[in-house]
Amino acid sequence: MPRSHGSEIDTLIQLLAKLPGLGPRSARRSTLQLLKKRDSVMVPLARALEQVAEKIVICGTCGNIDTTDPCHVCEDGRRDRTTVCVVEDVADLWALDRSETYRGLYHVLGGTLSALDGVGPDELNIAPLLARAATGEVKEIILALNATVDGQTTSHYLAERLAEFGVKVTALAHGVPVGGELDYLDDGTLAAALKARGTVS
Ligand code: ZN
Repeated sequence: MPRSHGSEIDTLIQLLAKLPGLGPRSARRSTLQLLKKRDSVMVPLARALEQVAEKIVICGTCGNIDTTDPCHVCEDGRRDRTTVCVVEDVADLWALDRSETYRGLYHVLGGTLSALDGVGPDELNIAPLLARAATGEVKEIILALNATVDGQTTSHYLAERLAEFGVKVTALAHGVPVGGELDYLDDGTLAAALKARGTVS
């Protein structure tokens, strides 16, 4: 095959193609844009990647990924510290926070219970959630898991485990389509789902 560029550029294309939403074609186009905008985009991007890569940590309190531990959400004094919203993934935390309907704290599970994939309670960030519930500071825990079978199974499991702590346990209601994933919803749907949340039976 004729070579139109050096192997370093090839490596860049291959790495970009690993990102969600970017196939090989989009990765080639993105790479070309980076090459053309070396000073205004490529160099600042390389610096930002390096800085974030050096600093990323998982928040010991909530499981969020950030550059500080505790994370910026847990450290934010303007948030309601009596409410904790439980999500599967950091993408869901970002999505809910974008909706600007909710201004409490979060807890990231890192997945859902799954008999098929062999994911049990010990594989998820559940023990720290129970510890947070036990402190007495938290008055309400909102289960904002995906409306999938595994998400709902996990919701019921958590509701049972949380019952002993005397906290109000609620879950997202209307708005989230069955089989839907939070990260793909528009902000209005997410806001409606948060407002219509109900107690888990
Ligand atoms: Zn945190």
